Amino acid sequence: TQINLAKTISSVIQAAEVEAEQKHIQLHKQLQSDITVNADIILLTTAIENIVRNAIKYSPAYGEVTTTLELKDGLIHINITDTGNGVGENEINKIFTPFYRVAKARERHSGGTGLGLAIAQKAIHRHQGQLSASNLTPKGLKVSIVLPHSLKG
Ligand code: ATP
Ligand code: MG
Repeated sequence: TQINLAKTISSVIQAAEVEAEQKHIQLHKQLQSDITVNADIILLTTAIENIVRNAIKYSPAYGEVTTTLELKDGLIHINITDTGNGVGENEINKIFTPFYRVAKARERHSGGTGLGLAIAQKAIHRHQGQLSASNLTPKGLKVSIVLPHSLKG
């Protein structure tokens, strides 16, 4: 079915608001409003939810999480950035592997199974998209989703 992406992303952000407020983290969004895509709304919601949840979970208190949506050169770009510590360059390619958690996260008492990003990646691949992560300067992680605009059912 045709999904309005700005609406879908907005409801994910709204659902994460309570979690964010507990850490005094501000959730920002810059969403192009007119983009629709033929996709599975549950899979897509799950993917974005897992990424936004991570951004909140792995950011220190008083951080910021920003989600952007834009259509560029026929591709849909969704970026979720945070102001946390990012991931070591030697581990950044592994965070999409099922059950993988970076050493720091394992040491901490933050719960988690290491499945969130693996599930997100499956969901994005199912839609012929790509999921990637990169560290930001001076700090933070950017998680990027790229989706084709004209998707087959
Ligand atoms: P789950 O999502 O299953 O509850 P999880 O959050 O540990 O557990 P993933 O979401 O798959 O698992 O993330 C894998 C690992 O990648 C995390 O344990 C964490 O070490 C790292 N990670 C994910 N997102 C971020 C982020 N925004 N900033 C820093 N590290 C991150
Ligand atoms: Mg997670």
